[in-house]
Amino acid sequence: MTGFVRAGRFLGCDAPYEQAAWVLFGVPFDGTASFQPGSRFGPPRIREASWNLETYSPRLGRDLAAAAVHDAGDLELPLGNVAASLAAAEAAARRFLADGKRWIALGGEHLVTLPLVRAALERWPDLVVAHFDAHADLRDTYLGERLSHATVLRRVWELVGDGRLFQFGIRSGTAEEWAFAAAHARTFPDAVVEPLRAARAAWAGRPVYVTFDVDVIDPAFLPGTGTPEPGGITAGEAFEAAALFRDVEVVGIDVVETMPLHDTSQRTALVAAKLVREFALAVAGR
Ligand code: MN
Ligand code: MN
Repeated sequence: MTGFVRAGRFLGCDAPYEQAAWVLFGVPFDGTASFQPGSRFGPPRIREASWNLETYSPRLGRDLAAAAVHDAGDLELPLGNVAASLAAAEAAARRFLADGKRWIALGGEHLVTLPLVRAALERWPDLVVAHFDAHADLRDTYLGERLSHATVLRRVWELVGDGRLFQFGIRSGTAEEWAFAAAHARTFPDAVVEPLRAARAAWAGRPVYVTFDVDVIDPAFLPGTGTPEPGGITAGEAFEAAALFRDVEVVGIDVVETMPLHDTSQRTALVAAKLVREFALAVAGR
């Protein structure tokens, strides 16, 4: 596929493009990282770590070998050019939609969610957004910029409006962000599994876009991320949350902020890879 490079393939995601219902692809962009850059190296490390796993998930009773997922590789991006990088991600998403596919995108930093949601909204104008994160990401500007990993959900809210942004596991934000969330979003601090069960019932078949910032997981399990925030959910709770999407009309997923440069024990990449496997099986598995 032109415009992509690929070194390796995610475990079990070997369906031909034409036959795949879901496409896995990397968006190796970390242009606004404010604390630790390097999430551009996330997708290849997640792929590599995936080969330590089984294709079968006992939690879901499903096997990736029977799932129609194609790994398209990583987008080739003009790093340093934020606007052009986001435009390339949006163009890729639109191309997958035109071909009747949905996607699991691997970040990269969280700003990559914005062009992906924008593309998905064109097809599903009434979608809701399920956002997992340590951080609210609801600033209007950060360091003077409107486009940042720290503002991305504020930009998404501008697209979807009140009551359609569900935030899970949040444990960090400014006073202004918490006030904004109380007025405009449905924000569940600290926990993910129980609030997700309740939200899932409220969605009742509506299309859902899932954006999962891996820093919602405690840095004890996942130290390699752009802005680690002490505390947080366990890796097991993250896998359970992913599995809960098996009964949801998911239209797209991104898993962002895996930053492997400080991941000397490999645990970050392993947790992220298992999370991606559970998401893939929840939405595309049989
Ligand atoms: Mn975060
Ligand atoms: Mn985030």
